[in-house]
Amino acid sequence: MLIDTHCHLDFKEFDQDRSAVLAAAHAAGVEALINVGSSLEGSRRAVELARQDPRVFASVGIHPHDAGECGAEAFAEMERLAAEPKVVAIGEVGLDYYRNLSAPALQRDCFGRFLSLGVRVKKPLIIHCRDAEADVAGMLAPLSQGAGCGVVVHCFSGTEDFLKDCLQKGFFVSFTANITYKKADRLRELVRLVPLERMFLETDAPFLSPEGHRGRRNEPAHVALVAQAVAAIKDVGVDDVCRRTTQAARQFFGLP
Ligand SMILES: [Zn+2]
Ligand SMILES: [Zn+2]
Repeated sequence: MLIDTHCHLDFKEFDQDRSAVLAAAHAAGVEALINVGSSLEGSRRAVELARQDPRVFASVGIHPHDAGECGAEAFAEMERLAAEPKVVAIGEVGLDYYRNLSAPALQRDCFGRFLSLGVRVKKPLIIHCRDAEADVAGMLAPLSQGAGCGVVVHCFSGTEDFLKDCLQKGFFVSFTANITYKKADRLRELVRLVPLERMFLETDAPFLSPEGHRGRRNEPAHVALVAQAVAAIKDVGVDDVCRRTTQAARQFFGLP
């Protein structure tokens, strides 16, 4: 049994065959998945998808790339969406200074508002962080040790120092199939440092297809390949990886 804790089935890449993709995920042992919103429109669609399928849960947020879209009206709607029963998290939100598609000050403003929202509605935060570790760590510091709401840094690809800081603060991390890439030795070192009880698995589909599938669309069924990769890296059984990460995710996101 597996949970894909982060995918984007609302994206147009899935418009032709969304139900087949969900069926394939189910067949691969994915019992639940979290469709993560990354824009206002994407968050609306995430909630809609969650309403239509008992296995789909939603997260609502505005990606730092789109921080410019986080005006008062949009944020008011995000607040309404955040209260929906099948919305289990706030995100993805955070800072991305790698692509800098929005001005850093605007990103920090948007991120800050969503941090307060997570605390207000008591739903955990799904964090996107790229080349912005110092600022993300600073802004998340008040949420250390479960104060306010839970935190997961998704698609973890940061430094070892940042990883240790996150674990020390009681945060969780999730890994995608980029841990399967030939050149990802550094990432695999990080996987070794994270206890399975603090780790979730994700695909970030349609992005980051696993080795052997690169150049094609990723999908939630491939979270099974992430589990296999983690098992190989940690030299433990794949059943153990599935059971412990699924249990951790279920508790963190409050899934039935
Ligand atoms: Zn992300
Ligand atoms: Zn994502």
